[in-house]
Amino acid sequence: MDKYRIRQGEELDVRKLDPDDHSAWEGSKEEGKQRLVELRKELASLQELLYAEGKHRVLVVLQAMDTGGKDGTIRSVFEGVNPQGVRVASFKAPTPIELAHDYLWRIHPQVPGKGELVVFNRSHYEDVLVVRVHNLVPKAVWRRRYRHIVDFERMLADEGVTILKFYLHISADEQKKRLLERIEKPEKRWKFNPGDLEERKLWDNYMAAYSDALRRTSTKFAPWYAVPANSNWYRNLVVLSVLVDTLRKLKMKYPSPVENITQYRPALGGKDGEAEPDQPDREA
Ligand code: AMP
Ligand code: MG
Repeated sequence: MDKYRIRQGEELDVRKLDPDDHSAWEGSKEEGKQRLVELRKELASLQELLYAEGKHRVLVVLQAMDTGGKDGTIRSVFEGVNPQGVRVASFKAPTPIELAHDYLWRIHPQVPGKGELVVFNRSHYEDVLVVRVHNLVPKAVWRRRYRHIVDFERMLADEGVTILKFYLHISADEQKKRLLERIEKPEKRWKFNPGDLEERKLWDNYMAAYSDALRRTSTKFAPWYAVPANSNWYRNLVVLSVLVDTLRKLKMKYPSPVENITQYRPALGGKDGEAEPDQPDREA
């Protein structure tokens, strides 16, 4: 999955990336879905370990165009994970109070604490995406934000936050299909927002803004992955694989139990002097 990682500073035009690419998975779609089931189980164990160890903090940032699949990714990837250990923070258009502060003000309180995994559904990146495309602040203001964002994420990483960022890449045609579905399928109508049609007209501007944001802020400590996202199963597989792989590399351990734990058995009616769990019987 490393092929989807963006390298900082490299030339990048996200329009040249293939949203239908499936090349990091050699099996069929059915096999891919089977792999998803396994990876979800592993994620559930790793998340429990993350919580038990209480040392690392994990931040997953999701960005995409409308209908890009942020909600679907959250549903699929975190299905089966204990809800106590995961939190989703969604960032909508800022409120007047939020607008009265710097753009990172509302972001910082949502970053994960020790043992926590937090998913950002949209993020501080909107402040160099929608804000840039709609000229909500002058160019001189959004331009310097790339630097702020890299510095902010560096600080978080230095303080022990593991950061993964995913841009879910769909084609304009796929978006058209998905928007039409929101009109045609009654159970999807609640999601239809006529405003999305206005945003869609600005597709190329968004692609330029994404290209710049990704290449300027994809660092070793907070890498971006541009995920082919026209197929849901493949998108889920890429995100879940990168997440599981990253958590594995943290080499987390359960904390040591209290000393001489078996001495507490009699207090609960158990027999003293029995073998430790997972140890061969001493008499044998
Ligand atoms: P949705 O995620 O579809 O519910 O929409 C949330 C909306 O909030 C999107 O249209 C975003 O572009 C918008 N939004 C999120 N963050 C910002 C921001 N910092 N400035 C302006 N609009 C934002
Ligand atoms: Mg929307």
